[in-house]
Amino acid sequence: MQEPVPDPKPAVREPRTRAARGGRDLVTLGIAFAAIVLFVATAGMVLPGIVASISHGGSPPDVVLTNALLLNIALIMLGWHRYKGLTGEIEAHRRSEREARRLADYDDLTGCLNRRSLAAELEAMLAKGAGKNRALAAIAIDLDNFKQVNDLNGHAVGDAVLRTTAERFRHILPEGASLARLGGDEFVCVLRYDLDRPERVDMLATRLVEQVARPVVHNDIAVDITISIGIASSVHVGADTNQSPAQDLMHKADIAMYHAKKKGKNRFYWFEPPMENELRFRNELEAGIRRGIQKGEFLPYYEQQIDLDTGELIGFEMLARWDSPEMGMLGPEIFIPVAEEIGVIAELSEMLIEQAFMDAREWDPKLTLSVNISPVQMRDPWFAQKILKLLVRQRFPANRLEIEITETCLHENIGLVRSMITSLRNQGVKISLDDFGTGYSSLSQLRSLPFDRLKIDRSFIRELTNEEQSRKLVEAIVSMSDGLKLPITAEGIENEDVLNALKRWGKMKGQGYHYGRPEPAAKVLERLATNGRVAVAGSAEIAEVPANGQDDTASGGSEAGSRAV
Ligand code: C2E
Ligand code: MG
Ligand code: MG
Repeated sequence: MQEPVPDPKPAVREPRTRAARGGRDLVTLGIAFAAIVLFVATAGMVLPGIVASISHGGSPPDVVLTNALLLNIALIMLGWHRYKGLTGEIEAHRRSEREARRLADYDDLTGCLNRRSLAAELEAMLAKGAGKNRALAAIAIDLDNFKQVNDLNGHAVGDAVLRTTAERFRHILPEGASLARLGGDEFVCVLRYDLDRPERVDMLATRLVEQVARPVVHNDIAVDITISIGIASSVHVGADTNQSPAQDLMHKADIAMYHAKKKGKNRFYWFEPPMENELRFRNELEAGIRRGIQKGEFLPYYEQQIDLDTGELIGFEMLARWDSPEMGMLGPEIFIPVAEEIGVIAELSEMLIEQAFMDAREWDPKLTLSVNISPVQMRDPWFAQKILKLLVRQRFPANRLEIEITETCLHENIGLVRSMITSLRNQGVKISLDDFGTGYSSLSQLRSLPFDRLKIDRSFIRELTNEEQSRKLVEAIVSMSDGLKLPITAEGIENEDVLNALKRWGKMKGQGYHYGRPEPAAKVLERLATNGRVAVAGSAEIAEVPANGQDDTASGGSEAGSRAV
């Protein structure tokens, strides 16, 4: 008989199959028992006859009885064989049931409890209560930048990081604590603690943060990992929510964890009620950004860039704005970091850049256009191609475009950044290093990466006339850029005094509120029309993206060495 295939979902069908198996068991046992009784009875009658006929040559035993005896023996053997088969079958079923239960309750990768079983356990723990003067603490743990670990090193390394991290948690957690992996890089630990000694939970969280912040090595790849932790106590669980107590506790731990992320990651926070409003705001912001992209609520504004020596307008920097129906006009500091985190920055940026190309085609073709690029976009190996595609689609000359990247990009995959910069420059696009002085770019990076320009951060320029230190710093940057033969743009010129101080250091570009606030496209066009600097009909039809583009009629491309505009 064929072995039944083990049921992959025994949890659902278990009662019926078990009853059926039990029934079959009994029938087999009954047949075997009856066969044994018959065997004893027939053997008692037939065997003496057989022995007598063999030893004394007497008459052979009754043929019918002999056949009955043989049939009995066959039945007993068949019953025994069937019984053995069934026992094996039952054992296999038990094993697959155990495995199914394990899979249903535990996370396969890390061996921790999974989301479903943790919820059940937490509900039970809360219902039972923590004991006199004790409470339950839910500790939500999330790995920082885990997506990046996966993206840069592949999923095998990501899996190894998760396994090692779970192992480190287990090593540190006290006895009686439950550890679960909720999915992805989210873990939760639940434990009882003494309400008079909450600092013990603090100490535990500190140890978790410290101990996990060691590199995980897998196949010779070392990955640095940090975690953010949020802690909520069962004393925080309120009645004014439509969630179950377990859901409420987890939700609050999550809010505190999110707060820890926002405060710079690699740290822990206990839940406090005001954090809830922050999260609500954040969720609304995320939903608003996604909706805003679909509805075209993001707009390019333009800030003038000036040749400080001649006072002539030489181009504009495009700065993103969000015309939010709920919150009004918002600046990029509010939405760019969120757009980066939720993975929509490339879509948002490309949309704005394309619009900026359309706007700038209406300007005097001598005017340049600068755009800011997020470090997240620089991780995309196709970034340069995407920009070139937009240039071609909007028939915007590459040599009018300047891309601003921040120093943060230089801490990423420097090889990728270099090849991207090189391929964009080969097409004629200029690359500037924005907010220079606020990051950690080294001199060797500056020398080895082919930048076209440095933009001194506005924080130094603003304080130029008040603070001796800022003056010295700007002086140092100016002389360094001289040495590197990199032209400079000074950001954040707010008044005449700053302007005059800057002019003493030679030729450079500048921008700032002294020349006007960033404006929408229509206002810019109006200003340009007044000054006779709009594109003459047909002049914007410059279709080609130069093959090497190193010539520059628009922005005085041979500035290197002279800092001339
Ligand atoms: P940034 O590239 O350094 O842009 C200059 C910022 O300085 C702008 O702020 C501008 O409005 C402000 N600013 C200009 N002149 C003055 C001045 O005289 N005084 C002061 N106090 N501020 C001045 P904004 O528009 O808020 O942009 C902030 C940052 O957001 C930008 O800094 C840039 O890093 C980023 N950003 C803007 N648009 C985009 C975008 O489309 N994509 C990306 N990834 N980042 C963007
Ligand atoms: Mg900029
Ligand atoms: Mg800047």
